[in-house]
Amino acid sequence: MPSAGRGTLILVLRHLAGRVWWYPHHPDPNNVEAGVAVVVGDGGSVVVDAGNGPAAAGRIRAAIEAAGLPPARRLVYSHHHWDHTWGACAWPDVEIVGHAAGARLLEAEARRPWSHAYLRAEVEANPRLLPSFRARAWAMPTWDGFRVVPPHVEFDDTVTLADGVVAHHVGGGHAPDATVVTVPDSGVLLFGDAVYPPPLHLRGTDDTGYDLAVAAKLLGLGDFDWYLGSHEDPHPRTAVVELLSTG
Ligand SMILES: [Zn+2]
Repeated sequence: MPSAGRGTLILVLRHLAGRVWWYPHHPDPNNVEAGVAVVVGDGGSVVVDAGNGPAAAGRIRAAIEAAGLPPARRLVYSHHHWDHTWGACAWPDVEIVGHAAGARLLEAEARRPWSHAYLRAEVEANPRLLPSFRARAWAMPTWDGFRVVPPHVEFDDTVTLADGVVAHHVGGGHAPDATVVTVPDSGVLLFGDAVYPPPLHLRGTDDTGYDLAVAAKLLGLGDFDWYLGSHEDPHPRTAVVELLSTG
């Protein structure tokens, strides 16, 4: 398993709409590098997800600064998966908000003895972990100072993150703590991985397409212009409506 980063990209923030910007996902899915959304507010920015490691978090923080946006003051986890949370230890002075179910899972993840040797041993025991654990090795050139950070603030149903910015727990097959963030004044809904099937190593033969029950929930949260996930480009509302009519 290689230990050096692979195909590292230095990217800039893209503007989506209103006060919502995003740092795009890595174009090579093998890298498993989730995108991060940035919602600008008066008292600082709210970021949705932490990046897949301290190195990614550093690139995203630099991109926020380069765009002239206020530093992050709050960070909300869309769910507990590593590619959304492992950068958390590299965001100074942020309050991390996350769903209670994810908090328990992250507490368990924090107790595991993460290292390259541990990743190798886990893959030998369960080869289905290879794509995820290989990407973790690429994302973590060093483990110095790394720790998994459970949320500082937990919620069960919804929580207001800033003026008009609300996190909603939606759950579903991808992760029990799956959370989406709405920014009504900008016409944006950030859905993380909520509509995706379960992770590969937990996937059954029926779990192949989008989770249509969750997609329907997204439409029920309001009438937004843009729906942005963590591993793809933004979709207009018509694309979500179409998914449900043809799914
Ligand atoms: Zn995920």
